[in-house]
Amino acid sequence: MQNLPAFKEFMNQPRKVVIVTHVKPDADALGSSLGLAGYLKKKGHTVKVITPSDYPDFLTWMPGNSEVLIFQKDKPKAAEAFISQSDIVFCLDFSSLQRINELGKMVEKATAKKVLIDHHLEPEKFAEFEQWDDTAASTAELVYKLIRDIGDEDLVDQNIANCLYAGIMTDTGGFRHPNTTYEVFQIASALVAHGADPSGVSKLIYDTNTLERLRLMGFVLSEKLNVLPEYRTAFITLSAEELKKFGSQTGDTEGLVNYGLSIKGIRLSALISDRKENIKLSFRSLGSFSVNELARKHFEGGGHRNAAGGQTNLTLDETVKKFLDLLPQYKDQLLAD
Ligand code: 5GP
Ligand code: MN
Repeated sequence: MQNLPAFKEFMNQPRKVVIVTHVKPDADALGSSLGLAGYLKKKGHTVKVITPSDYPDFLTWMPGNSEVLIFQKDKPKAAEAFISQSDIVFCLDFSSLQRINELGKMVEKATAKKVLIDHHLEPEKFAEFEQWDDTAASTAELVYKLIRDIGDEDLVDQNIANCLYAGIMTDTGGFRHPNTTYEVFQIASALVAHGADPSGVSKLIYDTNTLERLRLMGFVLSEKLNVLPEYRTAFITLSAEELKKFGSQTGDTEGLVNYGLSIKGIRLSALISDRKENIKLSFRSLGSFSVNELARKHFEGGGHRNAAGGQTNLTLDETVKKFLDLLPQYKDQLLAD
């Protein structure tokens, strides 16, 4: 963090803290938020974590989960009160206030100081303090570095360590993506030294399925995975009816988009699903092809070069058509290297 001394000075007395993270939080969003919350509580601050929406069941084991205020489900008025009365709002794992839906306006309006801790591309300028690094694999590791740079590494206990470890593990795809650097292993290793349980966390996140989720996965792989070799592209579509048929819960489609990318020769994979409130797109790519650009330019989204997402207010069929119609203009890039 650039102005760390000023940040430390501000946090030198007990503060009313709000931590917000992006809609449909994943393990990095929730883990970095709850890890930071655990640390700030130990420092004597009052902390409220607020998420715009619910999140998958396989994340509810995280220490501090029961105190999370879910804006969509719990009392919106309470969220507004927490934000407007706070001294400082931490914005974790997102770089544009749009990513927290209605909470964005509240945060923008709040007189509180704002802190951005994030690793997404092209962040908006709305925070007084920034721990931003688009080369970081996860927000969780940025939280860890902040705690370390403040000199409070000793306060990282097993609960905090497990939350942060979960974020690093998932945002590196289980230490498999190209963002898995020496430093990632160093921080993960430090977290294990502080009590994180790699096998336990991995079991809770990756190996905790419902039968319905496995059946959905089977259905998708056998019936719904389309491959366009001429564009080195794979895509999956899921209608609201299909999601309903498999009793799909939040998080059930997580990871599906990666299967397309695992096919030999494929460089771009998309999952296009009808979430009723909108159509959600999830993109993954290999190498230099930027799905951040694709999502940002055409689908009101963004993310990272090789993992990004977006949405439309079109129908599912219209969205699929829009996606397919874009492919010719990206053909050269898709076929390069
Ligand atoms: P996923 O496909 O797993 O939902 O998201 C992949 C990456 O893209 C994550 O880093 C996520 O934060 C980001 N992302 C997903 N959806 C959106 C979106 O609608 N807008 C923006 N700006 N980023 C997104
Ligand atoms: Mn992240």
